[in-house]
Parts: sequence; C-alpha cells; structure tokens
Amino acid sequence: MRVIFSFIFLTMIITLGICAFVAYRSKKSIGKPVTLLEASLIPPIVGNLMIIASTQKQVAVLGCYLYFLGMNLIMYALLRYTFEYCMMKWVSPILKYIIHFLLIIDSIQILLNPIFGHAFKNEMIYIDSEPIYRLVPYAGQTFHRIVDYSIFLDILIIFIFKIKQTSKVYVKRYMVILMSMIATGAVLTIIIFSRIPVDVSMLGFGIVGYLVFYFSLFYRPAGLLDSMLASIAYDIPDALFFFDLFGKCIWANGSGKKMTGVHNNEYELCGKKIYEMFGTIDIEKREWSEKKVIGSGNAARYYSLDTYVLDDEKGKKTGTYLNIHDNTDDQQSFKNELYKATHDLLTGIYNKEYLYEMIKKTLIKNPDERFCIVFVDVKNFKIVNDIFGTDFGDHALRCIADWIKSDVSSKCVYGRLAGDTFGMCIPIEEFDEERLEMELSDFIVVSGSMEHHVLIHLGVYEVIDINTDVTLMFDRAHLALSSIKDEYNKHIVRYDDNMRAKVIWDQKISAQLHEAIIEGQLQPYLQPIADNSGKVVGCEALVRWIHPEYGFLPPGNFIPVFEKNGMIVEIDRFMWKSACEILSKWKSEGIDMFVSVNISPKDFYFMDVTAEIKNLVKRFGVSPSKLRIEITETVMMDDAEKRLSILKEFRDDGFIVEMDDFGSGFSSLNMLKDMPVDVLKIDMNFLGKTTDDKRSQTILRNILKLTNDLEIASLTEGIETEEHYKILVEMGCKLFQGYFFAKPMPVEEFEDYCNIRQVK
Ligand code: C2E
Ligand code: CA
Ligand code: CA
Repeated sequence: MRVIFSFIFLTMIITLGICAFVAYRSKKSIGKPVTLLEASLIPPIVGNLMIIASTQKQVAVLGCYLYFLGMNLIMYALLRYTFEYCMMKWVSPILKYIIHFLLIIDSIQILLNPIFGHAFKNEMIYIDSEPIYRLVPYAGQTFHRIVDYSIFLDILIIFIFKIKQTSKVYVKRYMVILMSMIATGAVLTIIIFSRIPVDVSMLGFGIVGYLVFYFSLFYRPAGLLDSMLASIAYDIPDALFFFDLFGKCIWANGSGKKMTGVHNNEYELCGKKIYEMFGTIDIEKREWSEKKVIGSGNAARYYSLDTYVLDDEKGKKTGTYLNIHDNTDDQQSFKNELYKATHDLLTGIYNKEYLYEMIKKTLIKNPDERFCIVFVDVKNFKIVNDIFGTDFGDHALRCIADWIKSDVSSKCVYGRLAGDTFGMCIPIEEFDEERLEMELSDFIVVSGSMEHHVLIHLGVYEVIDINTDVTLMFDRAHLALSSIKDEYNKHIVRYDDNMRAKVIWDQKISAQLHEAIIEGQLQPYLQPIADNSGKVVGCEALVRWIHPEYGFLPPGNFIPVFEKNGMIVEIDRFMWKSACEILSKWKSEGIDMFVSVNISPKDFYFMDVTAEIKNLVKRFGVSPSKLRIEITETVMMDDAEKRLSILKEFRDDGFIVEMDDFGSGFSSLNMLKDMPVDVLKIDMNFLGKTTDDKRSQTILRNILKLTNDLEIASLTEGIETEEHYKILVEMGCKLFQGYFFAKPMPVEEFEDYCNIRQVK
C-alpha cells in the first residue's frame, strides 16, 4: 500500500506541477489563479507522501506540518480561483480580511505546535506490519478544521449560487468542479472521522486540480455556438423559415411566427400561412428573390423575399431557408425623402427643380400638343407679410397654390418656383385668359377676420420649340411679366419678340455705357428754369446720349434700363461732374445761375452720395447753393431714417434739395410732413395737363398754398403754354420749367439762349 500510494502521490505531484506550469504560461486572466491552485496542491500531497512513505518519525511529523500548512494554502488558492472563475466579487472587503486573518492565525498556531503540542501528535501504528506515524488530533487541529471547512463551505456556496444564476449552456463548467469538490470534501470528512492513516482525500483534491485546469483553460461548452446562433436567428427582425427537403416548414423565428400569427411551435402551419400570404415562393432554386406588396394605399406593406438552399458538408441539400424582410418603413422613408426632394412643403405642390423636370417630360410626351409656360408672381408680397404677418402670408401662398391646382387637366404641371412665385405648364386651349383676368381682378385671401386683395401677375410664354431649356422658357415668361408696370387692371401679359428685342437692347446699351462716357457720347442738356418775371435763373441738367449707331437717344430709352441694373450710378456721377464743370465756368464768367441734377434712388445703394457730391463742389470750387439736388420720394422707400439724415446733411452743407415729380406717387403729402426739402417740384403732367380742368386747378392751387404755408418754395415743371405760366404765376408759384420756355438743349445753346433772353 505504501508503495502504491507513494507512486500515486508522486505522479500527482509531477502532473500538477506540469499543470501549474502550463497555466502559468497561459495568457488567459484565469491563468494566474489556476497556477496558484495547481501549485498549492503540491505541498500537502508532498506532506502526505512523507507521512506514508517514511518510516522515520521526524519525516512523518514534518509531512504533517507540510500537509496542514499546505491545506491552508489550498483554501486560499481555491478561494481566489473561485472568485475569478465564477466572476464574483467579495461582498465586503472586511470578510476577505477576516478569512485571510483566520488562515494566518491557523498557520501560526500549527507552527507553534512543536512548542505547545496543542494541535496534534503522531503515534506509530502498524499496517501490513509496517510502521506508519498516524496523526492524533487535539484542539488546535479542530480549530484548523473549522477554518478550512468554513472556507470550503463558502467556496461551495459560491459555486451553487453561480450555477443558479448562469445560463444552462454554462452550467456544466461549474457543476463538474462543484461535484468533484463535494465528493472530495465528503471523502476528507470520512477520513478525518475514521482516522484512516492515509489521506485519500488528497486524490480528490488532485482530481479537483485537474478539472479546474481543464475547465478553466480548455473547456468550451458544447452547443454554445449553436444555442447562440439559434437565439440570434430567433430574435432578428427579419422573418426566417426553414424548410426540409420535402418542402415542410420545420422552424420559424420569432418574427416569422409573428408575421404568420402562429404562437406555438406549429411550424407546418407557419409554412402554409406564408404561402397563403405571398403565393409562389420558390424553395427549389438555389437562390431566389422577389419583392412583394401586400395591401394597397397607405396600408400597403412592402416585403423582399429571398430563399437559399442549405447544404451539408458533403454538398448535399439539407433544406431551404426563406428570409422575409419587411421594407415598409424603408419604402415609407424613401417615399418621404422623395416627396421632400420634389415638393414644396408649404404648398404641397412641386418644387422648382422637379417642376422643370416634369415640364420637360410633359412636353416630350405630348409632342403634338401646344403648351404655354406661365410665370405666376405675387406683387408686393413682402408688404402682405409685413402687414398681416408670415402666417397670413403662408396662408395666402397656399391659397394661390390651391387656385393654381383647381380647374386644370392632368396634362397641366405646376409648382412653386421660389418665395412668392409659381410656375405652370398648361395646354394652350386650357389657358383661358379672359376667365383668369376675371379671377385675378378679385383675388381675395381671407383668414379669420383678416382679408386682403392679393395682386397676382402672370407672364405667359408659348412654347415653340420643346427643346428649349425650361429655364429659358420661364425667363421669357418672367420677362413678359416684368413688363406689367403697376397696372392694376391688367394681370396677364404674353411674351412677344419685342420683349426679347428689348432685352437684347438693354444688354447692348449696358455693355456700351462705359465706353460711351469716355468717348463723350453722353452729354448734359440743360432746360431753363425761369422765375415769375420770366427770367432764367437756372436750369436742370438732363442727360442725352448721342449714339454713333442709333443717333440721338432721349433718357427714356436708357435711364430705366440703368436704374434697373444699377449702372445709373455711372451716368449720375458723370452728370454731377458735368454740372460742376458748367457752374465753375459760369462762376469764372460771372454768371449767377443754378444747375439742378437728378439723383436716382439706386445711387444710394451703390455709393456715398453726399461724400461724392461734396467732393465735386470742393474740387471745382463751386458754391453748394448753385448745385441743386433733385430727389424723388421713392428715395425714401427704403431705410427712410437714413435717407432723411442724408438730406439733412445736404441742406446743412448749403445745398438746395428739391423734391422731384411731386404728385406722382401715393404718399407725397404724408412725406412732405417729414421730408427736409427746400423746393417742391410739381409735375403738371400728373395733373392731366389741362389748366382749364377745374379739379386740377384746385389741386394745384392747394398744393401751392400748402408749400407756401410750409415755407417751401415751389417749381412747376411741364409748363407748355403761356396760359399755364400765367395761371401758375397768379397762383403764387415761384419757379417754372417747361417747353413753353425751352426744351432741354446743349450747354452752348443754353448759354446763347440765356444771353438772348437777358438782352431782351
Ligand atoms: P425729370 O427729372 O422729371 O425731368 C424732366 C423731364 O420732363 C425731362 O425729360 C424733360 O425733357 C421733360 N420736360 C420738360 N418740360 C416739359 C414739358 O413742357 N412737357 C413735357 N412733356 N415734358 C417736359 P427727359 O429729359 O426725357 O428726362 C426724363 C427723365 O429721365 C427725367 O425726368 C429724369 O427722371 C430722368 N433723367 C434725365 N436725366 C437724368 C440724369 O442725368 N440722371 C438721372 N438719374 N435721371 C435722369
Ligand atoms: Ca428731374
Ligand atoms: Ca421731374
């Protein structure tokens, strides 16, 4: 027996040593606790080997010490390993310290046994007539057992707890070790109480050591992967169905069951239902896919179906699986995105880009039909927003979109081009101009207690060549539209080639302006201004273009073009400079007359008007009072406060400011209240020209009275007859301008004219 056990123990020592070494080399985090545990098993086995193999008492006694101290080491290592293996944490660090403290105390009391003899002694017995030194336990030994057992018990509890907590797949890795520990503990207990001289429980501990080694470092639970895959397949949002070789459905995942409305494991029923829902599904082909729609309208659901044949490792078909993906949400969000990309969200009609695309398609699709492009523009929409608020503005735009939509055939396409502009493409015969004019003359938007007559203009371009760029078609329709000027009784204008010719003209003269100024094609013409005694006291400088190709051009042919594109700045700068040159010359000749110059509202956008004019008078040494500034009330339309301060600045610097074309706008009288002007220039043309018209006369008389009361000087322009002149003199007007005296003329002519008059 001695030999057998010695051999077993020796084998265990070597193998556990190898296990400890392998665990030590392992890169796993559990490697260290396993190394410690494997190594901790060696000393008590060595101790037991000494007890059993030795016939000498000292060796046996030494074996006993090694055994007891080794058991403490095992408990420490086992505990550490258990925490790591079961992925547990100490409930409280105090508990940890208590256990460690108990182990240390126990080890010390065992080491003190040679002195006090309180723990154990060894008695010699004979087995098979061979002497063996068996252990005789005392109180210290009992303490040692209590410590080790309680730790051992804790370890078992942790394992039991872990088994309860963990998934079924992992139970085995804990259960095997737990069972081997329970068995070892039981054997140990039996040995202790039966006082068998050889501690067979060491075999148990050895087995625990091997199991720990294997389960911690090498074991992978069987079926873990399968069960993981099954659970993934079960939970994925796509519906999955597995069919066997005979086409019978043998499994469906959660989504599959939900889709077919089957709650238990009646997979065959799942299969049937899926065929009922989708009709043909080809599970024979190696790969098959199809898109299907179930239901219609908003309730429609979109699916993509795919089947794949499954083979075993030898390539033989084992079955087919069907994957059904519900595309409805994707389809819906795709539809939403498409809608957003192609529609105007406020009005729900097409946006500009999509409208252009659709117009192109419509024209190509109906090559024999004649269409027209309509540019719809809301006039003064900014004012609608400012006065009634943006909510009302939005409502108005929706009303216009609704109006556009109403009464049109399916061949008509329409959309919103930008803020307050819309576009349409309609068959010519559908475009009923008379009806539209009527509707537009009375287009009222109502919202709650608010209502507003919205002024809408339409520019119409008839499509001649369907290959023309849609942008160009709209440009032409817009061109037609922009030729409607403040006309409240005309809402629709059709594009004609004259308009195009005008655009070409505009572009041509714009390109030529700069050179024309340099080459002296532009000239200041002067129109005399007389006082109530008929004496010429000054003049208005009016521009003329002596064009090398087109001859004499009056300002009406180019001023509006340049006012529109801002190039008026160049003309005005030239005219102001010319006026200063004339004044400077007159000054040197002792002629005391003023020159009025025009200032366009656009000038204020593009330059510092006051600085520019002040510099000029300074440069030419002209008195500011001789250069009169003519502005129209439209100057005040934008940023009135700033413009007022500019006018004030002019007056403070000694310039005389005249309000030109008084009576032509809407708010002149209102403006007069705040506008710092010296002279009011009343245009007779606005009064219908006829002085015998009683009403005009009354108006004139009252305006003149008003200017008198406000201490503003008055100038009437457009005096064409002596009668005009006389009546106005009688009404108290101070200054006069008009064809009655003279038409605008070149500077030299004007000078001659004045001399003649003065001589008279
Ligand atoms: P305006 O400033 O009101 O100039 C007066 C216009 O009335 C001039 O036309 C003048 O020739 C015309 N006129 C003068 N007396 C009579 C008359 O008895 N009967 C009639 N029917 N017309 C008369 P014109 O020179 O063709 O200028 C037209 C407009 O062009 C000017 O109106 C002014 O607004 C603008 N303009 C002319 N030159 C300049 C300029 O240098 N700069 C700017 N910004 N505008 C200019
Ligand atoms: Ca003027
Ligand atoms: Ca005028």
